[in-house]
Amino acid sequence: MAEKDIDKIREYTGIPASPGIAIGSAFVYDNVNFWIEERNIPLEEVDHEKVRFINAIDAVIEEIKALKDKLEMTIGKKDASIFDPHIMLLQDPAVREETFAIIEQGKRADFAFFRTTRKIIKAYKHVDDEYMRERITDIRDILRRVTSELLGTKTSSFASINNLAVIIAPNLAPSDTAHLHSSKVLAFVLDAGGRTSHTAILARALGIPAVLSVKGISSEVNPGDTIIVDGTRGKVLVNPSESTIEHYEVERKNIERLKKELERLRDLPSETSDHVKLPLLSNIEFPEEVDAVKFSGSEGIGLYRSEYHFLLNEIAPSEDDLFRDYSKVAKMMNPMPVTIRTLDVGGDKISHLFEAEPEDNPFLGWRAIRVSLTHKDVFKRHLRAIFRASGVGNVAVMFPMISCMDELDETREVIDNIKNDLRHEGIPFDENIRVGVMIEVPSAVMIAEKLAKKVDFFSIGTNDLVQYSVAVDRSNNRIANLYDPFHPGVLKMIKMTVDAAHDNGIPVSVCGEMAADPLATMLLMGLGVDELSMVPSFVPQIKDVVRSMSMENARELAEHALECESADEVRVQIQKYGKCDLD
Ligand code: PEP
Ligand code: MG
Repeated sequence: MAEKDIDKIREYTGIPASPGIAIGSAFVYDNVNFWIEERNIPLEEVDHEKVRFINAIDAVIEEIKALKDKLEMTIGKKDASIFDPHIMLLQDPAVREETFAIIEQGKRADFAFFRTTRKIIKAYKHVDDEYMRERITDIRDILRRVTSELLGTKTSSFASINNLAVIIAPNLAPSDTAHLHSSKVLAFVLDAGGRTSHTAILARALGIPAVLSVKGISSEVNPGDTIIVDGTRGKVLVNPSESTIEHYEVERKNIERLKKELERLRDLPSETSDHVKLPLLSNIEFPEEVDAVKFSGSEGIGLYRSEYHFLLNEIAPSEDDLFRDYSKVAKMMNPMPVTIRTLDVGGDKISHLFEAEPEDNPFLGWRAIRVSLTHKDVFKRHLRAIFRASGVGNVAVMFPMISCMDELDETREVIDNIKNDLRHEGIPFDENIRVGVMIEVPSAVMIAEKLAKKVDFFSIGTNDLVQYSVAVDRSNNRIANLYDPFHPGVLKMIKMTVDAAHDNGIPVSVCGEMAADPLATMLLMGLGVDELSMVPSFVPQIKDVVRSMSMENARELAEHALECESADEVRVQIQKYGKCDLD
């Protein structure tokens, strides 16, 4: 490699928002540092300028409506409704009046609208509500669109991309992300954004690799730089060496190959060489993912995260809205199981539908079941929709972040009431619907013996169990090195949970990201886990691992791992046993 190349190589880490690997050249897109010069017009042109402004607004409303329609066909009506706030703002009479007032001072419409939107952005910046702050991206998007219309530079944001490219930007509005599907976009990397930003949610739904929250990347990358995006690990490499490109190219092809091997693996059982079965299920967020679930060869849905309805919409979903989605998924998957998890907002998932005070420690705060038990009206509506869906398919329900018995008892009371109501109303539901809890808080592990007597299954949420066990915020990059699912303390918690469940005759699933880690498969099986649930695209790879190992070795590995002093020692054991199985 030439020396000048060494200077240019840079590696960044951010939040892995959407999995996959992409290699391509950078398209740097700056939609934030957008500035309009102050321009004057003669007063006699004021009326004409107002008409120009209204025409531009109308054209942008049409443009956004068309985009919304297009998106509805790809990701569904509910998710496409993220464009409703755009339209509402464009139709807001106060916004129009304010812009008119500036035009009347002899200013050009583009500058007048720029001033109006900057005022709104400034106000939003000081609001404590994270959801409101996220709307700033939407307002910038509207400003850019209206200005393009007024200045006659009307091009789709990504229309100027000629070849496949990696988008690098300070931030992207959901409407930008929606364009990514049809345009030549390989991946995107943003300065901003979190796991629950609309952009991250859309990226996953559209299957485009993305890394978010890579501070300053948009000002450090030059157009045309070669970029590797590893959306699975949250890594971005700028101008990598030839050998690094080759390495990632091999991995990218492996992913492609694995996808192709789906055909072969899909109908083969997920069982070890000594014929022990390990059902592999999928995690989903949207009903539209069911096709991917089926294509992956999954044996059901082990975690249907239900909060996105509550995060994306302006108004709380009705019982019928929820029932429509759940029954659709239940019918499409039938007779395979669908486990719907009740609302898990709070922590890093801020829903504006609940009036929540900002908290110092949101992950230790008003989150998940705690929110549901405070808002029984919403909880009941949600549960009724789930129970009604159990009448049309194989549906189970589970509750997130249970930390004590009282929460489960209170929840069971609500369930009993709902069952009674449905019986009285003559609405069909599964009387034997399976009820489970997520084990993701250490106190739940310690009382697992007691919890197991009152539920039909456990599902271990390792994403949270790790953060609460080792006291590491799962989204804090600074201490990410301490966040380790292979920590022997975490493994012991998994074992305690499994033992408590099996002693009481109930099964245990793992539905955190650990379930999708091929290094963890043998260990989890050896610890006695009965089922894994993961992003659908990971199912074939994990099935490959299951089919190449023996249960006998898995048990031995687990015994040794539980004796280890550190996560690194555990990994050494895994490598050792992995090799035995391949021999
Ligand atoms: C988990 O905590 O492991 C889990 C599956 O739930 P979530 O990631 O939605 O918190
Ligand atoms: Mg969790």
